[in-house]
Amino acid sequence: MSEVALKTPTETQSGNLLDVQEIRAQFPILGEIVHENTLAYLDNGASSQKPIAVTETLERYYATQHANVHRGVHELSDRATEAYESARKTACKFVNANRTEEIIFVRGTTEGLNLVAESYGRWKLQPGDEILVSEMEHHSNIVPWQLIAERTGSIVRMIPMNDNGEIIQEDYLNLLNDKTQIVAITYVANSLGTVNPIKEMVRMAHDAGAVVVVDAAQAAPHISIDVVDLDCDFLALSGHKMYAPTGIGILYGKGELLEAMPPYQGGGEMIRRVSFEGSTYADIPHRFEAGTPNIADAVGFGAACQFMWDIGIDEIATHEKELLDYVHKCADRYEDIRIYGNAKHKAGVFAFTLDKVHAHDLGTVLDRQGVAIRVGHHCAMPVMKHFNVAATARASFAVYNTYDEIDRMFEAINFARELFG
Ligand code: PLP
Repeated sequence: MSEVALKTPTETQSGNLLDVQEIRAQFPILGEIVHENTLAYLDNGASSQKPIAVTETLERYYATQHANVHRGVHELSDRATEAYESARKTACKFVNANRTEEIIFVRGTTEGLNLVAESYGRWKLQPGDEILVSEMEHHSNIVPWQLIAERTGSIVRMIPMNDNGEIIQEDYLNLLNDKTQIVAITYVANSLGTVNPIKEMVRMAHDAGAVVVVDAAQAAPHISIDVVDLDCDFLALSGHKMYAPTGIGILYGKGELLEAMPPYQGGGEMIRRVSFEGSTYADIPHRFEAGTPNIADAVGFGAACQFMWDIGIDEIATHEKELLDYVHKCADRYEDIRIYGNAKHKAGVFAFTLDKVHAHDLGTVLDRQGVAIRVGHHCAMPVMKHFNVAATARASFAVYNTYDEIDRMFEAINFARELFG
């Protein structure tokens, strides 16, 4: 260990009024014992833990409000519909959309992106059209575009990144041309932590006549999202990464685009009239919500937005930035730690490898010490290819993480170093 002074957990709050211990108390799971150690949960990029405010909302919903929505004439159906539609209003506010109809509840980012590819893509793309996708995308913002490209004869082109993990803006500009129909980019890269200049990239795409689809899966937990300010055409996010239940997320789309788009899936809820001569479809957002929706988890999503607002999204971001600065400072002490993702603008993701220890072995050793991180390709194989690695280890932060947990991660890394060194 070098002499670099490590901050103590109490110093975490210097200049930042967040009471992390009080926040931690709202997450019972953080007290779990894992392999005889208290859990240090640093795998929030994969999925965050859930506060009592969210789990109690789910319990209350099932205990007092549940029935199917939009259909019943009875009291419980009214209550469920009211709770579900009120969650949509909350989600609308969360991304600062203009109209609640611009919010479609989906299973998560993956479904949101597939919806845009299948519906907008199938409608718009012609042979020879181009879809630009950045090198740092999660597979869920690559594969749906490849699938629709195959079916429409359009072409997926990669926007390259540099070795710091930043999109090369000159290359992006050069790739944009009058064949570009769609630009699909992540707000925050899950494998590197890069925060992309979305607003600027949207402006450039619009100048070229393309629409922009933003993957906000890793942005939503850390950044105040404002779709009006970004002027993006579509934006998808997952609830489970931002303290909400699994199986729920939202797709935002500009009203005039959604209104013109064909349905994604057929079934109940999304129709106006059905006959064997042909069917007509409901208005947005219901046109894109076929079948019984995930009512309870949408309501839980609303509670998660409120949880984040109660703390303050800027306060959450500040705390995570402090943790990120700290983890980088700690890592600088070791010559055998290689960091992936050194963008100027980064969110709370620390991806690294340790010389002589495979990422999977490292993950296993850390787990035995109670420290949960993610190891592997992070569903971003092109990023692994760029850096010529098969896998990296990744710690990713949430509002409840502490300096102490980072110290524990480095202690466990030391242990792995001794074990394999
Ligand atoms: N996009 C990014 C950047 C992600 O990190 C993830 C999940 O890790 C996804 C998309 C897919 O999200 P989900 O599995 O919740 O649909």
